[in-house]
Amino acid sequence: MTGGNSESNLSLPTGVAVRGDGELTRRAHAEPAHAYRTPFARDAARILHARAFRRLAGKTQVFTRLPGDPLSDHFRSRLTHTLEVAQIARTAARALGLNWELTEALALVHDIGHPPYGHAGEKALDRALTAHGLRFDHNLHALRIVTWFEARYPAFPGLNLTLGVREGIVKHSRDYAASEHPELAEYFLDQFPPLEAQLIDLADEIAYLTADLDDGLDSGILSLEQVRAGVPMFSRFHETALASFPHAAPRLHAYEALRRVLNAFASDLIEEVRRRMTALGAKTLEEIRRAPARLVGLSAQMETGRAATKRFLYENFYNSSDMEEVHRHAEQVVTDLFQKLMAEPELMPEDHQAQIPAEGLVRTVTDYLAGMTDSFTEQLWARTR
Ligand code: MG
Repeated sequence: MTGGNSESNLSLPTGVAVRGDGELTRRAHAEPAHAYRTPFARDAARILHARAFRRLAGKTQVFTRLPGDPLSDHFRSRLTHTLEVAQIARTAARALGLNWELTEALALVHDIGHPPYGHAGEKALDRALTAHGLRFDHNLHALRIVTWFEARYPAFPGLNLTLGVREGIVKHSRDYAASEHPELAEYFLDQFPPLEAQLIDLADEIAYLTADLDDGLDSGILSLEQVRAGVPMFSRFHETALASFPHAAPRLHAYEALRRVLNAFASDLIEEVRRRMTALGAKTLEEIRRAPARLVGLSAQMETGRAATKRFLYENFYNSSDMEEVHRHAEQVVTDLFQKLMAEPELMPEDHQAQIPAEGLVRTVTDYLAGMTDSFTEQLWARTR
């Protein structure tokens, strides 16, 4: 048994874990091995030390500040969401005997390509680009960041991440057709990614569904009655919490219910991956890559619970009337600023302007805008109106 997995209950054949010294550790620019750290551990550290990673602290998850209350400061940002995803993904990877260092690197990088203002910002940016025959895709933008923009090393452009981490970035929550993306040829587009990468999509969903119920309740946009009526899993665990701790403060009952929801999703995920692996009899990474479908998922029953929770959040939180003004403002700011920078590229810093000949004006403006935090975007917009 290897030291890294000593705490794990290894029920999966170790052949399916991505090797810490195999093909997927290849970098575009070869580097000597590190004395103490595996290539994937080094990648996790490079991401953690990147400027784009730090900026996640200033980017919206659902909202950074409560609408109408600029002093609220404890809601999730993309950074804290990212750390929650890493916690869940790491637990699952270790329980499944996978390469948790690769999983951790992928969790830390999974949202690094998100523009300011969450999905409203992304929608506005995509719409602005569509008018120029282009699209905004946060996975491909993340790949541009780690491959080019993060200039931290004199020896090579970007972070020079391993092939395994770059493949995971490309395949986060979607698959690209090889025929439409010849530039992505090295990422095994006709195959599924390793389990380590597949885990991130579900860890992401589990993290944000439970966290957004928490922030929704905390902000008062969602009421306890509403969540109990709309999310059966929550309601069940809330009943249990009331019965087990009849004298606890009401908000502790809600926290306890959410904690149990999260745990139920994560445990089900781990068990379902084990079940699917056993059913398929897959013993190698190659078999996972060529399986009939992605092997990471929830059981049928918990998948129903996941879909219901997500639907509830869309209807009552993300698309609620409380959020309308927040989204409208975000879309306005991003749209205005995009047009402004297109008309006056000299408003961009010189290192960005220098990209125009190679990347074109539209892509350069997009890269600059997508990298901004919410508050930077807001200030630049206010200053250039
Ligand atoms: Mg995410």
